[in-house]
Amino acid sequence: MRFSKTFIPTLRETPAEAEAISHILMLRAGYIRQLAAGLYIYLPLGWRVIDRINRIIRQEMDAIGAQEITMPALHPAEIWQATGRWSEIGEEMFRLKDRGRRDMCLGMTHEEIITWLASMEIRSYRDLPQVWYQIQTKFRDEARPKSGVLRTREFLMKDSYSFDRDEQGLEESYQRHVDAYHRIFSRCGLKFYQVQSDPGMMGGAGAHEFMAPSPAGEDTIVLCDSCGYAANTELARSTPRPQPEDHSDWDLEDIPTPEKRTVEEVSEFLNAPAEYFIKSLVLIGRDGPFLALIRGDQELHEKKLMRIVGGFRQAEREEIREILGVEAGFIGPHNNSLRKIADISIRQGVYISGANREGFHTRGIRPSVHFDAEWHDIHVVKEEDRCPECGGDIRIERAIEVGNIFKLGTKYSVPLRAFYLDEKGREVPIVMGSYGIGPARIAAAAIEQNHDDDGIIWPESIAPFDVEVLPVTEDTDVMETSEEIYTTLRDRGIEVLIDDRDVRAGVKFKDADLIGIPYQIIIGKKTLKEGLVELKQRRTGKVERLTSSEAIERVSSHYKARG
Ligand code: ATP
Ligand code: MG
Repeated sequence: MRFSKTFIPTLRETPAEAEAISHILMLRAGYIRQLAAGLYIYLPLGWRVIDRINRIIRQEMDAIGAQEITMPALHPAEIWQATGRWSEIGEEMFRLKDRGRRDMCLGMTHEEIITWLASMEIRSYRDLPQVWYQIQTKFRDEARPKSGVLRTREFLMKDSYSFDRDEQGLEESYQRHVDAYHRIFSRCGLKFYQVQSDPGMMGGAGAHEFMAPSPAGEDTIVLCDSCGYAANTELARSTPRPQPEDHSDWDLEDIPTPEKRTVEEVSEFLNAPAEYFIKSLVLIGRDGPFLALIRGDQELHEKKLMRIVGGFRQAEREEIREILGVEAGFIGPHNNSLRKIADISIRQGVYISGANREGFHTRGIRPSVHFDAEWHDIHVVKEEDRCPECGGDIRIERAIEVGNIFKLGTKYSVPLRAFYLDEKGREVPIVMGSYGIGPARIAAAAIEQNHDDDGIIWPESIAPFDVEVLPVTEDTDVMETSEEIYTTLRDRGIEVLIDDRDVRAGVKFKDADLIGIPYQIIIGKKTLKEGLVELKQRRTGKVERLTSSEAIERVSSHYKARG
């Protein structure tokens, strides 16, 4: 393609509204424009990238026997009501009415619709297994659309769904997706991790996310390099380090701690580090008040606790007084009969906590001796903690979720009556899986992971073009050689952009680096006199002087070898 005839509106200035690097560079390099919050237009270069990503996704989905279909983006409410998600999902769902005043919504995802399809069409065990997928638009009224195309209100998703006779079949479909996802993200040139994740609103029996590490990511993941444990911090477990010293010599005694309420204050006052404290939080759950117990140096993970007890809220100061007869700063796990959910970090050791007595703390509290509790992992993982599997060191990294996979089980097939008849003629619910990928997030994550001060450095597989040809001057011989290189490469099936604009060489060089096409062939008057052109690699900046046919040969054989 010719630069002069392609709409590539590059910008010199950094747009004020953008913070994430991928957002800045996609705007500056003329890949996207914003229509409104969370709504983006893909310009020609941007769309070429998405198209290449989609092609990789299609190849790998087809390779595992998934069949492409396409479903409407506009859905009748009844199907979403049948699974309960019409009322479970709040403002994130775009809802509307048709002219007959019937409730409709714009699809956030397609579990309901595809399960409805299966319920109508799949009759017998002979129809199974099936894997159906689409690359189609989703709508979500995200609370905080941000970071350019990383979180938008309308976006493309590759969503696939597996239908199996039983758990064993689901296991196989799931594993095939795991393999396909590894190939897709590797082929797209991403650095990524597969991590355990929270099934959340999808429900179901197990889930993984594919995470591209980047400071622009909204997620944090916990990684152990020794054993490979990897999990989203939404559910990651860890073993907090043990207390630094043994204090089994502490007897149980109440110590006056006037006006000292927080762990920090009492820790300083009693000269004992935070690891020796139990924080007792009074919470109000569905069945009334209970205590959440956590070590002084740890933080309560509300989501983990919520998975155990359901919804809860903090008790007010007044309520605490009514329930325990003591002020918030002096609560302890002993001497009271409230239900207790305790973090595993305080299972061993000897502790200090509020004495349930105004102005006092108790030292020498022994878990399971002085109080009983239900033991769970309810703390936020910290980098100093240990791997829950092997005890090794862990790392915490920010990451972009580029894809995820869920074992749905029969969560959707039962309410939507997607049953099949087994060999014995019995009606059995279909066992399902659901698998998503965001092509726009792949593009943005690739930029986050591959750029420098001058611009984007595309992984070769998803660049908008393979090579950019840059004639430096308007001289006839320069233009002729450039055109010849351009047409020869193009005829060999290489995607080539030629910068045939009537602009200064400096502008062409700057734009070329900004746009980030992997190879540049630069044709200058002086070098051409010596019969040479320059082949520049965008990633390394390495420049080689070659004859034009050598340059053509080099580039085309490189891409041929890659297939
Ligand atoms: P997140 O936790 O980031 O909101 P999600 O768990 O809601 O993502 P899914 O519903 O499973 O994501 O969607 C599958 C994939 O679609 C995600 O892995 C991501 O790549 C992409 N995706 C999800 N929401 C958005 C969005 N608002 N904008 C762009 N891509 C998105
Ligand atoms: Mg979401």
